[in-house]
Amino acid sequence: MNYSEIMVRYGELSTKGKNRQAFIGRLHGNITKALHEFPALTIRPKRDRLHIELNGEDSTAVMARLSKVFGIQSYSPSVKVAKEMAAVHEAALALMNETVPEGSSYKVYTRRSDHTFELDTNEMNLNLGDFFVDHRPDLKVQMRQPDFTLRVEVRREAIYLSTQTILGAGGMPVGTAGKAMLMLSGGIDSPVAGYYALKRGVDIEMVHFFSPPYTSDSALNKAKQLTTKLAPYAGYIKFIQVPFTEIQETIKATVPEGYLMTVQRRLMLRLTAALAEKRGGLAIVNGESIGQVASQTLESMVAINDVTTMPIIRPVATMDKTEIIKVAEDIDTYALSIMPFEDCCTIFAPPSPKTKPNLDKSRYFESKLDVAGLMERALAGVKITEIKSSDEFMNQDQDLITELL
Ligand code: ATP
Ligand code: MG
Repeated sequence: MNYSEIMVRYGELSTKGKNRQAFIGRLHGNITKALHEFPALTIRPKRDRLHIELNGEDSTAVMARLSKVFGIQSYSPSVKVAKEMAAVHEAALALMNETVPEGSSYKVYTRRSDHTFELDTNEMNLNLGDFFVDHRPDLKVQMRQPDFTLRVEVRREAIYLSTQTILGAGGMPVGTAGKAMLMLSGGIDSPVAGYYALKRGVDIEMVHFFSPPYTSDSALNKAKQLTTKLAPYAGYIKFIQVPFTEIQETIKATVPEGYLMTVQRRLMLRLTAALAEKRGGLAIVNGESIGQVASQTLESMVAINDVTTMPIIRPVATMDKTEIIKVAEDIDTYALSIMPFEDCCTIFAPPSPKTKPNLDKSRYFESKLDVAGLMERALAGVKITEIKSSDEFMNQDQDLITELL
């Protein structure tokens, strides 16, 4: 179908009162960013709808990008026609013939912002109903839950027709909820946590700890590739890699085995909080799920969370692994996540970490370290890159990556 525009309905932001302008402004910016590969588009944000005029761009390709922009309730590819009934009939028939199969039920639903038009909404509904009795006798009119609704919008400049309403990604425009740091490992859970944070409008920056030479370039690249999968939801994402080798070696040499994991996690969290403070992050997001492993019992959370008062958001805390995997598959991170590259945590993981670490002991063992010095050196070695969805991260194991995918 040769559509003229995509009509976009706002999500939850419609109810946000005086923040409305800010929400629409941010959504407009995010949509513009997401559609930057289509230069002919004209994007017009209005009070209760946003209109994307296609000007010849491919509607299917545009809608594929649009489906990943948070803050959109639904969207409809629409045909623009002149405000005369002969033109409306012709275009409506072509649209119905192409999109509504024989024997379907349907109704006509008209909205009118131009009240000077010759037909009011009722008359328009009846007029088109009569027209289809003659031209599509196979269709049957059904007011409640029809298979299709022919939507007619009478606006000042033209009349718009659509038969499809496609559900958008929901949520709120990324950036409207401020910024947080996502602790991104190479695993299954943290990318899913990042997806949910973005969905609520939180702009995220990735914080990834790596430990060369114990972890390889491939492990680092895997985290970067996971970031490319989330980038379409955010435009681009900053990736902050933090060298963690010295800290892990020092902890290994100083702390009793049962507390290795707890103290490592405390240092990770301290560093993430420090980065957040430095970079205007208001919270920390991680992929912890209650009881999944030793470091994720409530007792462990108490012993680790102790190092910061910054809010820690745990979007997948109450989800089962199977539920998390389902989302990971939907957002296309699962295949990458299960690739078997060593993680900085598993390498230094003791065979039997304490599932119920004691808070005072955790503090005591940590106090044996030069925490300030270790942190200062790790932060001095931080490297920040900006990642977008089309980026690729090649390395000597690229063949393996491709093969495994
Ligand atoms: P994931 O699947 O996200 O790796 P997991 O079930 O393997 O989670 P852990 O390894 O215990 O769980 O990690 C818990 C959380 O700690 C992760 O979800 C992530 O937010 C954070 N984390 C773990 N390792 C790293 C790392 N190398 N860099 C940054 N954050 C990390
Ligand atoms: Mg992990």
